[in-house]
Order: sequence, then C-alpha cells, then structure tokens
Amino acid sequence: MSEKPEKLIDKKGIRSDGRKADELRPLKLEVGVIPNADGSAYIEHGKNKILVGVYGPREMHPKHLQQSDRMVIRCRYHMAPFSVQERKSPAPSRREVELSKVIKEALEPSVFMDLYPRSGIDVFIEVLQADGGTRCASITAASLAIADAGLPLRDLVVGCAAGKIDDTVVLDLYDAEDKLGAADVPVALMPNLNAVTLLQMDGILTPAEFDTAVNMAIEGCKKIYVMQKEALRAKYMTAKEELKEEVEE
Ligand code: ADP
Repeated sequence: MSEKPEKLIDKKGIRSDGRKADELRPLKLEVGVIPNADGSAYIEHGKNKILVGVYGPREMHPKHLQQSDRMVIRCRYHMAPFSVQERKSPAPSRREVELSKVIKEALEPSVFMDLYPRSGIDVFIEVLQADGGTRCASITAASLAIADAGLPLRDLVVGCAAGKIDDTVVLDLYDAEDKLGAADVPVALMPNLNAVTLLQMDGILTPAEFDTAVNMAIEGCKKIYVMQKEALRAKYMTAKEELKEEVEE
C-alpha cells in the first residue's frame, strides 16, 4: 500500500482522490447479469466491482437449517484472490465470515420472511475488486438481486459509509482513506421506511462527529437508493422492449 500522504484532505477540503467531503464515488448498477440465477446484480462503486447471484426461494437443505415458520437467508461474502493487490487466500477468512453475517442481518428486515416457511435463499457475493466500503456496496447489490429474484420486499436496502480522515468527517471512504483515516461508520438503510439495518463503527469519533457521520451516510444512502430503483426499472424496460420487438416480428 502507498505511504500515508501528508494530508488526506487539503485546506480547500479536497480529498486525495479529488472528491469533496460529502461526495460519493461514481456508481454503476446493473440488474439481471447472471441469467441462470433467480436474481442477480452487479455494482461498481468507485473501484469496487461486486457481483451478486441469488438462488431461491427453494426448499432449504440441509433440512436441519429449515425454520417451520419462516425462510432462511444464507449469505456468502467472498473476496476473489485477485480482488486486492496481495493475493487473498480463497479460504474464508474471519473477516469474510463476519461480513457474511452482518450483510445477511442487514438484508433480513426487508424480506417478508414468514411468507416462505421451510425455504431459503442463497445470496452469493463475489468481490472481484475491492477498494474500501465493500460491505456497503455488497448490501446495495444484494438487495437489488433479491428484488430481481421476485421476492416481495418491504423496501430495498442500501449501504453507504462515512468516516473521519485527518480532522474531517467525510462520505464514502475509499481504501486508502479507510486504512489511513481515523474512523469508518458503515450504515445500511431502508430509505422509504427510514429504518437503519446496519450500523458499525471502526475507529474513534466524538459523539458529535458520530452524529455527523451517521447523518452523512444516511444522505449518501438516499442518493444511491435513487440509482438502485433506476437500475431495477431499467431491467424491466429492456425486457418490455424485447417483448415488444418479438411480438412485432
Ligand atoms: P469494507 O470493504 O466493508 O470497508 P473493511 O473495512 O474490513 O471492509 O476493509 C476495507 C478494505 O480493505 C476493503 O474494501 C479492501 O479494499 C481492503 N482489504 C480487505 N481485506 C483485504 C486483504 N485480505 N488484503 C488486502 N486488502 C484487503
């Protein structure tokens, strides 16, 4: 990794990647990218590139994992060996086990779990390139993939982090800011219900800075939510166009 620059944010409030304090990285979202899966999505969030495939709802196997009154979400967050500069071991790390759990718990409140007793969905998250904030980007894409699988949802879940670099609270930290900065606060939100489904903090913040960071992350989530809905709509508009062409032929 590169040496810590003297300043992660300069006097004019410009960060080392050229962004302002409250600016998101560029985002690209696509739905229905794995035709053989029941639902899928792809996200580019800054330099993060993440693919999500969802299978189900289907009967849960092994049977001892079945719940008689609700469905089960099984989630696997995995970073490809080539997703970071140093080859990452393909074996699940403690970090990946933790992220699989927190992502699953961030998604669960959005799903009507009791509609599918004894069933389950598998959410496979493959990080192809990681550059900070992958848990948030994974949540944004996984929620889209679950919607694409046709599950009725209370709301989409969207993830975004804020944190502190040098002495400034900023939105959406990238890898160098995450590693060299003072704190990182990932948040997941169901914007329409105004409900937070993930809140973590790594580092040290004053109570006032924590408030600022959470509010900034929530505003970031709301901006990404607009793009999330647009990505879902785009898939159905394309399908509608294709159907129209077939009918006309
Ligand atoms: P998040 O990706 O949600 O921010 P972390 O804070 O744990 O999760 O990780 C921050 C960043 O550190 C990741 O996005 C990735 O760029 C980098 N990283 C994670 N694991 C490794 C690893 N094994 N080797 C190199 N870089 C890693």
